[in-house]
Amino acid sequence: MLSFDNSYARLPARFYEPVLPARFPAPALIRLNHQLASEMGLDLDWLQSPAGIGFLSGQHIAEGSEPVALAYAGHQFGNFVPQLGDGRAVLLGEIIAPDGQRRDIQLKGAGRTPFSRGGDGRAALGPVLREYLVSEAMAALGISTTRALAALLTGDSIRRETMLPGAAILRVASSHIRVGTFQFFAARGDVDAIRLLADHVIARHYPAAAGAQRPYRALLDQVIAAQADLVAGWLLVGFIHGVMNTDNMSVAGETIDYGPCAFMDIYDPATVFSSIDENGRYAYGNQPTIAQWNLTRLAETLLPLLAEDEDAAIDEAQEALAAFGPRFEQAYHGGLARKLGLDDVLPGDVDLVSTILKAMTANQVDFTLFFRKLCLAAEGEDEPVRSLFIDPTMFDAWAVRWRERLTDAQRPAARRAAMEAVNPAFIPRNHRVEAMIRAAVDDQDFGPFEEMLELLARPYDDQPALAHYAQPPRPNERVMATYCGT
Ligand code: AMP
Ligand code: MG
Repeated sequence: MLSFDNSYARLPARFYEPVLPARFPAPALIRLNHQLASEMGLDLDWLQSPAGIGFLSGQHIAEGSEPVALAYAGHQFGNFVPQLGDGRAVLLGEIIAPDGQRRDIQLKGAGRTPFSRGGDGRAALGPVLREYLVSEAMAALGISTTRALAALLTGDSIRRETMLPGAAILRVASSHIRVGTFQFFAARGDVDAIRLLADHVIARHYPAAAGAQRPYRALLDQVIAAQADLVAGWLLVGFIHGVMNTDNMSVAGETIDYGPCAFMDIYDPATVFSSIDENGRYAYGNQPTIAQWNLTRLAETLLPLLAEDEDAAIDEAQEALAAFGPRFEQAYHGGLARKLGLDDVLPGDVDLVSTILKAMTANQVDFTLFFRKLCLAAEGEDEPVRSLFIDPTMFDAWAVRWRERLTDAQRPAARRAAMEAVNPAFIPRNHRVEAMIRAAVDDQDFGPFEEMLELLARPYDDQPALAHYAQPPRPNERVMATYCGT
C-alpha cells in the first residue's frame, strides 16, 4: 500500500530515537487533504477506511514505517539549548511519490518521546487547526512550506490552562532537518555526524552541490539563498512566523513549525503577535535579520567542513553569509515591484515603495487590502484604495509618482490581472483564525474550518460570496496576542 524509503533512519543511531506513537482512545479524522494525498500517490479510499485512519493516527504502524523522533538542538530566543528534539512528533517515514519527490510523513501530537523533557507530547485541537489551515494557505499563496495531510481528534482531553480536546496533525515536509539538527552535533563536537548530515542534506535537497568544487560551501550558499527567498516571500504576504528559533528553521527552505504565527493587518514592521515574544525579536520587520542570524549559526556548525584551516573556513562562511542581504533584497524588492505592477526594479523604485509603506503605517492602512485595491487603480479606479487612508491625499500624491513609473507597454486590464496574481484577496486573517478555532473547540463546529480551507485554496481569486473574509478586524475584533498552545 505505502512504500517507505526511510533514508534518515539509515543514518547512525545517534541521529534519532525509535519511538511508537501513543495510544489514542478514539481517533477520528477531522480532515483529509485529498489533493495532497493524490499528489503523493496515496489511495484515498484506503486512507478513509478504518485501516487508513489507523495509519494516519499512528495507531497502526504500516509495513516499512520506522517511527523515530529526531534529535536536534537550537537557539530559542537567542539562548542555546543543546538538546531539544522531537518532543511530541514522530517521523513515520519517508515516501517517494509518483512525481519522484521524497517526503517525510510526521505525526505531530503523537505522545511522549525521549525528547519530551517536561511536556506531555500532545497537541491541542486549536494549534492543530491553525497549523493545518495556515500551512495550506501558505502553499496556495505560493510560499514554500510543510503541508498538512490530515487533522485528527484523538478522542481524549489534554491539560493546558484548561482541559482541551486532544488532536494530532499529519505533516508532510521535504524533510524535518533544521539548523538546530546541525547544532545538535556541533555542540557535541561530533564532526563525523556533521559531515554525514551535510552529505545527506546535499543528496536530498541540493544535489547540484555534490558536483560543485567545494560541495559544503555550495550547500551553505544554497541554504542561504533558499532562506533569503523564503523570508522575502513571507514579507510580501504579511506573514509573521512568530518563533524563528534555529530549531524552527528548515534547511530545505520550507516554512516549518506553525505556532503563534499570524498575518499582519495594518502595515507596521514592528508587528508582533506571539505572546511569548516579549521583546519583539521575531517582529514582522525583523525576520530578515533573524534569518541571517540563524544562518550564521548554521555556518558556524559547518566550519570544520569548509576548510582545513580555521581562518580560511571563517572567510568562506563570511563570504557565503554576505550573499544573504543582496539575495533577500533582490527577492523582496522584485516582489514589491510586481505587487505595484512593475516588471523590473529601477533605482528609484525602492524609494517609491518605502514612501507608500511609511504612509500606510501613518494612515493605519491594511497591508493586504492596499495591494489588492491598488489592482483596481491600475484600471483607473482609485477610490477603493485611496479611501483606505485616513488622509487620502497622501495616496493621491504618491499615485502621481506611481503612474509616472508605470510603463505604457502594458494595457491597464493586463496590468490589473498581473497584479491580482501576486496580491492576494484573502489571507488567513488572525481574527478569523481565532474565531474558527473557537467554533471548533467550544461548539464542535468545524464549518468555519472547512469554509476557510476552501476559500484559502484560491487566495488570488475574488470570491464575492465570502468577501467578508477579506475584511480586516474591526477594533473590537483585533487579536492582540497569539499563543503557542504547546
Ligand atoms: P516548538 O516551540 O513547538 O517548536 O517546540 C520547541 C521544543 O519543545 C521542541 O523540541 C518540541 O518538540 C518541544 N515541545 C513542544 N511542545 C511539547 C509538548 N507538549 N510535549 C513535549 N515536547 C514539546
Ligand atoms: Mg519547533
